[in-house]
Amino acid sequence: MVSEHPQQGRCRGVSGDPARLVPARLVPARIVIVGGGPAGLYAAELLAAALPGRAVVTLYDAMPSPGRKFLLAGRGGLNLTHSEPLERFVTRYAPQQDWLTPMVQACPPQALRDWAAGLGIETFVGTSGRVFPTDFKAAPLMRAWLRRLRALGVQMMVRHRWTGFAPAPAPAPAPNGLTGVTFQAPDGPVTVQADAVLLALGGGSWARLGSDGAWMPLLEQAGVAVRPLRPANCGFLRVWTPDFAARFAGTPLKAIAVRTCGDDGTLTPWRKGEAVVSADGLEGSVIYAVSRLLRQQLEQAGAARLHLDLLPDRPAGAVTAAVCRPRGSRSWSTHLKKELGLDGVKLALLRDCTGPDLWADPRRVAAALKDLAVDLSGPRPIDEAISTAGGVCRDALTDDLQLKALPGVFCAGEMLDWEAPTGGYLLTGCYATARRAADGIERFLYPLSQCSA
Ligand SMILES: Cc1cc2nc3c(=O)[nH]c(=O)nc-3n(C[C@H](O)[C@H](O)[C@H](O)COP(=O)(O)OP(=O)(O)OC[C@H]3O[C@@H](n4cnc5c(N)ncnc54)[C@H](O)[C@@H]3O)c2cc1C
Repeated sequence: MVSEHPQQGRCRGVSGDPARLVPARLVPARIVIVGGGPAGLYAAELLAAALPGRAVVTLYDAMPSPGRKFLLAGRGGLNLTHSEPLERFVTRYAPQQDWLTPMVQACPPQALRDWAAGLGIETFVGTSGRVFPTDFKAAPLMRAWLRRLRALGVQMMVRHRWTGFAPAPAPAPAPNGLTGVTFQAPDGPVTVQADAVLLALGGGSWARLGSDGAWMPLLEQAGVAVRPLRPANCGFLRVWTPDFAARFAGTPLKAIAVRTCGDDGTLTPWRKGEAVVSADGLEGSVIYAVSRLLRQQLEQAGAARLHLDLLPDRPAGAVTAAVCRPRGSRSWSTHLKKELGLDGVKLALLRDCTGPDLWADPRRVAAALKDLAVDLSGPRPIDEAISTAGGVCRDALTDDLQLKALPGVFCAGEMLDWEAPTGGYLLTGCYATARRAADGIERFLYPLSQCSA
């Protein structure tokens, strides 16, 4: 193994008060950030800006360039954050709301909009309350961000895959007991010494963009408690009849509402939106919105039930009245099309999820249109998910997001054990945890600012 950054001499002094023996750094602290997603990039920016001349910030990423998932998010318009009131905003992090709330309060949606504006990227609030860059693109923001990081002196080392920690080379162990950070680089393994490390390695979906979750066993071996990564904001599997799958895979289900069993065991309020029929299940934004609850049902009971309202804009009474009108010789599909404007995919879905006896009773048809039970057999593969749940457990971290088992090592972003729906909450959570970890690193390196060189 070679040392990429030879160990510099460490000069350590103390303040006058022996009760406050605090190191005074005479050389800049070495901060190693691993992971060039939004969490790592934001922490790098904050630290480089906060500690000019007092820290050398180097960011490592396994991929040939940073921010690949962030750039992919740009394909969907880059929903940076959300404009709803903060009290409501923080509820989106349930069941980890109490953990995330102070971090989001310290890094609220408006701060992200201001930050983007500072990079020359104006944002706007869409009709849904979601916040996007005015051009719906991630690439211009990323270019401006990387320019800012370069100007702040952040060094970028790509194609460096983090492989763990190594014993510190004698005779100058890192002052905080940290042992060195190891990478697989293009020319072979390298070890770098660091005074503080931030891991911002992402979750476990879209592995081809770098976030492969391969860090999990490395941290587990180091004694860090982690929860398995599971798909979040994901589609679900359902066995359709072959005819339905063949005819309707890829067809949107517009103007529907969904609900399912909530955390308290009662059904959640109906939520309107759109979904898409896939060859083997359902996906789309309204499905993602209830995906945490569906996944939990599957984890606990091996089965999950989604309720669909196929006509959410019509009251149940009106639907019953329409369905019960004399049908004459008309087929059910013609009747429902004429009376309720029901389209082909909704009618076929109704047929696919009910038995033939339903059609003998118009009142049951009406009830099923307003509350169709769709049983799901599992989530779609984790690699397809928008985000992942699980990761580094809250109990494994201090309030500053420092790993209790590895002093000097901090974590941020999606690799922490929190989840949130789509709507800008994911990126906001990544920025907010990055801010907390960056503040924690600053406090760790410079516990008393008057003692810093
Ligand atoms: C299709 C899609 C659309 C999305 N759209 C939105 C959206 O509009 N709004 C929103 O809020 N969220 C969105 N998200 C989610 C959001 O992109 C993620 O939550 C966010 O990128 C996570 O940031 P992160 O910094 O924690 O990790 P990541 O962005 O995943 O970055 C982790 C980085 O760590 C690197 N890395 C991993 N392992 C190693 C290793 N061993 N060594 C070195 N480097 C390593 C990776 O290469 C990667 O660059 C979307 C996600 C997807 C998949």
